[in-house]
Parts: sequence; structure tokens; C-alpha cells
Amino acid sequence: MNLFMISSEAYPFSKTGGLGDIAGSLPLALNSIKIDSSLVVPLYKDNYKFVDKKSEYAKLKIKHDKNDIEVEIIKIKHPENLNITVYFIKQDKFFNRNGLYSENGKDYEDNASRFILFSKAVVQLIIYLYKKEKFKLDIIHLNDWQTSLIALYIKEVYNEEEALKNLKVIFTIHNLAYQGNFETDIYNLLNISWKFFVHSRLEFYGKVSFIKAGIILSDLITTVSPSYAKEIQSEGFGLNNLLAENSYKLFGVLNGVNDNSWNPKTDKYIKHHYSVDSNIDSVEECLKKKKIIRISLYKEFNLKNKNFPLITMISRFDPQKGLDLIYSSFFELSTYDGNFIFLFSKNNYFQNFEEEFIKRANRTKNIKVVFDFDEALAHRLTAGSDMYLMPSKFEPCGLNQIYSMKYGSLPIVHSVGGLKDTVINYKDSKSLNKATGFVFNDYSVNDFVDAMDFAFKIYNNKKVWNKLIYNAMNKDYSLLKTAKEYKKLYIKLLK
Ligand code: ADP
Repeated sequence: MNLFMISSEAYPFSKTGGLGDIAGSLPLALNSIKIDSSLVVPLYKDNYKFVDKKSEYAKLKIKHDKNDIEVEIIKIKHPENLNITVYFIKQDKFFNRNGLYSENGKDYEDNASRFILFSKAVVQLIIYLYKKEKFKLDIIHLNDWQTSLIALYIKEVYNEEEALKNLKVIFTIHNLAYQGNFETDIYNLLNISWKFFVHSRLEFYGKVSFIKAGIILSDLITTVSPSYAKEIQSEGFGLNNLLAENSYKLFGVLNGVNDNSWNPKTDKYIKHHYSVDSNIDSVEECLKKKKIIRISLYKEFNLKNKNFPLITMISRFDPQKGLDLIYSSFFELSTYDGNFIFLFSKNNYFQNFEEEFIKRANRTKNIKVVFDFDEALAHRLTAGSDMYLMPSKFEPCGLNQIYSMKYGSLPIVHSVGGLKDTVINYKDSKSLNKATGFVFNDYSVNDFVDAMDFAFKIYNNKKVWNKLIYNAMNKDYSLLKTAKEYKKLYIKLLK
């Protein structure tokens, strides 16, 4: 089975969030279960270190409105697995920039144009490979709005092409809040008939919706957790009815973790490695290592009280992540016997809120906020922390709560989407054998603070705390599980 994974970002080449983690590592996991997977991504500024003259593979001319744009295909072997091919779509004016989608927190104005070009180039690459190498693709796996137009090009624009006949399209929604809705003045860039600008295709409240192409025209839609697959059929940012109509082909597949990049036993960003075994006493060993990492973070961030637990949060600075709950509970957080370090990536849309947030943090002694995208610090914070906050308003899957459990840091999460599907709440002794964290039900400051109070209380009960860490660290979050579920869906599609 030949499969192409198409994404606007993929770790280790490019990443702004969970999409990058999953699109980057899923091909590796799929390959290990005998699905020949290749990855197709744009060539961004940071990617030049992966390529050289020898990797130039082909040049394609892409019609883009009235222009012919030359796109180069760069082909390399994946640095982590030589059986996997990575095709970069190179067009420097479009992709050789400081950011992936934005710079200094501001979206690029030509994002529609950039990802329309990317989508067209992917389709032309498949046609080229068929003509040049007799390579016939079986499945194309699209991810999020940046790639969803490909479903339209395959199914209704270039459907007469031999290379695209019987090609099955699967579309994964990583976050429905991002839909790729643009004013109609971008329509000419699509180089398609206006007959597609109708409600049953791309039209969405007078705008052009890229994600609709993926939802309507893919053979199968997935999203990244079973709960989110249900939730988006009732709260779907205007697309709930469309998703409910298409529920017959909508599946929730829970994301997993790439063991090579997120593993406390081997993590390249930490010096003190640890792992749990079948003996609960091994938790103590882990905690010793975690303490060393924590103390070095306290030094670095000038945090007092070395014996306080560390509570962290790593995310995009986006209201989705429950920032209003944190902001409104600053006073309570400042009274805990604990230190907090928050790592946020900037978002210019919320500049004022960011300033207010920092002001409040600066008034406390125990809360530090860093605005940066820092992969290394993200790993060190996860390894050094005791609790992890993820009070998201909605959360398609969420990866950081899973990473934190794997690293023995207990998550405090809102009961929604993938958080609900991954964290098992500790309530009382009855849940002791399974629980892996703390889950609160109502999205309210009261419920959030109650969950925090409870977690701090349990933190002081060493026996229970260690057992929860033991449960959390021993759970199987592997991406292989995710890959096996996808494999079942691919097989179903090909039947
Ligand atoms: P989302 O995709 O909504 O951003 P996920 O929890 O699915 O959220 O994935 C977030 C990924 O991005 C994780 O790998 C997380 O560590 C990483 N990440 C988020 N913010 C930052 C940051 N400021 N610095 C470094 N890594 C970050």
C-alpha cells in the first residue's frame, strides 16, 4: 500500500503545534507496520540544512491565476528512517520565510495563495510520478485546511488523470477552529470553475472555505480523538451540521506519542534520564531525577523554595487553551506552595491580553511566563514538572497532557475532547488503580481552582501521588496504536 502524508508542517522539519508532531511521526509508525509512506511538505527556511544539490528531483510549472509558477521538488530520505521518502515543495517566494504561517505573531497576507500553490503542486507531483516512474499512489492522507483543497483537485478537477483514478482520500481535522476561510478575491488563484462556489462545495457564508473541500470530497474524515469527533457534530464552528451529515465517514482516532522524541529515558534535551518499571519503587528513582531537573529550572528562572512542586504549561497563547481561567486565578495560584512556569508561543491577535497576563504574573513571586517557541525548554519543563495544566476550553486531542503523563507530571485538565479521552481522573481510593491525573467538569474558575486545590492536597499524600505517577508513566500512549487504527481505516477504504 502506497501512502502520501501531506501536511503544511512535520517535525523534525517544521512545527508550530500538534499537527507537526503527528504528521511528522505518523509516516514512521505506519512504515513500521508495512505501509509504504512518504511525506510531502513545503520547504521552509529552516529546512535547507536537510537538502543539497543531489536532492533536486524535478521542476513543475504550476498555473496560479494568470501566472506560471515554477516549483521545484526536492527529494530526500527521512533522516530517522531511510525507507521513507520526503518530498519538499520548494518555491522560495512562497515558503522561504522566517515563519510558517506568520511572522511576529501576524499571519502572512498571502496564506491562501501559498497553500493553494502547495496543494496544486502536490497533485502535479502525483501525476508526474505516475508518468515518469509508473508510481501509483493508493492513499493520500491530508491534514487540516492547508491541504484540504487537494480533495477537490483529485476528485473533481483532475479526476480524468490516470494517476488519480481510484486514489482514496483521507482527511484529518486536527483543529476545526482553523478552517481556511477567505474572501472571494482569492478565487482566481484556485484556477477552477465558479461552479464550485456553491454551498455543496466551497461556499461558506459568502467566503471560500478550504476545509469544506476536505469534509465533503474526502472518502473518509478523521479527527484526533473519539470525543472530539462527537463534539464537532454539535459545536463545530458553523460546520456542525455538515459534519453530522457526513458522520457516516467520520472517525475519531486518538493521537499517540513518538517515542523517539518524547521519552524520559532517552530525551535529547535532558541530561538526567529516568524510566519507570513494573516495581512502584522505581517512581522514587524517577522523582530524584526530576528533582535535579526542577532545581536547575528554579535556578534559571530565579524561583525560590526549592522543595515546592513545579507546575508547568506549554502552549500556543490562544484562548482555546483556557488562558482566561489561569488569568482569573492568578491570585489563588500565587498563594500555593508551588512554582509555576508557563511557556507560550506568541499570538499578535491577543497582544493586549498578553501584556495584562505578564503584568499579573510579575506581581507574583512564584509565577514565571516565557513567550517563545522553544522545543528544548518544552522538554525540560515537562521532565522537571510535577503537575501540568491544560484547562482548555476545547481540545481536539492535545499532546502535552500525554507527554506530561509519560514524564511523570500529573495533568490537571478540563473534561473535553482528547483531554477527556486520555486523562483518568483521581477522585478517591476507588480510582487509585487507574487514575493518571485530575479532571474537572465545568469550564469555570471555581472548578479549575477546586481541581488545583485537590491536586495540591494529594501531592502531600506521597503514597497516592506516587501511585498516580506510576499509573501515568506506565500507560501505553504509543503512536503505533494510532498507526494501527489508521491502517484499519486505510484497508477499509481500499476494499
Ligand atoms: P496544538 O496543536 O493545539 O498547539 P497540542 O497539545 O496538540 O496543541 O500540541 C502542541 C505541541 O506544540 C506540543 O509538542 C508542544 O510541546 C508544542 N508547543 C506548544 N507551544 C510551544 C512553545 N511555546 N514552545 C515549544 N513547544 C511548544
